Amino acid sequence: MSTAAARHEFQTDDSRLKPIADKVLAGERLTFDDGLALYKSGDILAIGWLANYIREKLHGNIAYFNVNRHINPTNVCVAACRLCAFGKKKDTEGSYSMSLEQVWEAAASGYTEAVTEFHIVGGLHPDLPLEFFLDMMRGLKERFPQVHLKAFTMVEVAFLAKRAKLSIRDTLLKLKESGVDSLPGGGAEIFTDRVRSIICDHKIDGSQWLETARIAHQIGLKSNATMLYGHIENDEDRIDHLVKLREVQDDTHGFQTYIGLAFHPDNTPLQHLPRTTGMLDIKQIAVARLMLDNFPHIKAYWQMLTPKIAQIALRFGADDIDGTVVEEKIYHDAGATTPQGLRRQDLIRLIAEAGREPVERDTMYRPVIRTETSFTVAV
Ligand code: SF4
Repeated sequence: MSTAAARHEFQTDDSRLKPIADKVLAGERLTFDDGLALYKSGDILAIGWLANYIREKLHGNIAYFNVNRHINPTNVCVAACRLCAFGKKKDTEGSYSMSLEQVWEAAASGYTEAVTEFHIVGGLHPDLPLEFFLDMMRGLKERFPQVHLKAFTMVEVAFLAKRAKLSIRDTLLKLKESGVDSLPGGGAEIFTDRVRSIICDHKIDGSQWLETARIAHQIGLKSNATMLYGHIENDEDRIDHLVKLREVQDDTHGFQTYIGLAFHPDNTPLQHLPRTTGMLDIKQIAVARLMLDNFPHIKAYWQMLTPKIAQIALRFGADDIDGTVVEEKIYHDAGATTPQGLRRQDLIRLIAEAGREPVERDTMYRPVIRTETSFTVAV
């Protein structure tokens, strides 16, 4: 394998990056201050070189994608996060709630492509009890036993637990028993109270999010972890977020993938804010790869970054570009101009043109072996 490090040497004229490069090459952990120095530096090629060094050490030339379908059973939400264009109050214009049959039908309508994963998240509905969602999961598992159910953010889990008057642990156990295979990792936003009190003050706080993830991992549910960037947070907030994720991961090893989510301001109360720039989009991928030394995967989620930036990110630390999605609602309500979904062939082309080797994976990163109409998973 020809790695970037073998092809050319690390170079920078930014003196702050040289000691960081020494640590990266020696396999040492980066500190909070190292993370800040990375964000302060404008030498994106040097930062990218380092992130790519780690990325290729872990995954060689492989870049992962999956064939999945998003399902958002309801957009009705008791919270009113300022970051959000998706959630609507009950009985207001544009609000919707699917019945169980409608959820199962929506799942079936994407099944012709033999999806390996359903990604299921939604609003915090005031009237739908935990039992409704347990039935939803049981029904999906019954109908699609081969498909991995990646469902419920930590925020939804905490809300369902409160409504059912159960502990987080008991709620997660019930969800797991009903068919949930892993958690998608949304709702993390930015952990610091200062930011959270402005963008999502109705949500669980950062420590509750981390604790819910910790408990999920302890009972054998893997999860992803997200960070919403590009709004009112600063470099310190972003590094604080990554360090807190790293600390939980040291204990549980339950996070699979980090996903940086670019903030889309349209149709939110924060729509006066500008959209993220390409520089920040790429840098947050590279910094995450360098700081999250115990995370196996860093995802460049094409829906949020655009397929073009996601493709470039595969050279700046990312090893995954997510999946076919089929129908995305949450970021499109907030003005995302990306397609609602991509075909399997589109993802393969994006990855191959970045000079990486496309590997279709299931949610647990096992290679998928596909025939015309079905698939098996390598073990
Ligand atoms: S971000 Fe989630 S919890 Fe907040 S309003 Fe939107 S759907 Fe509700």
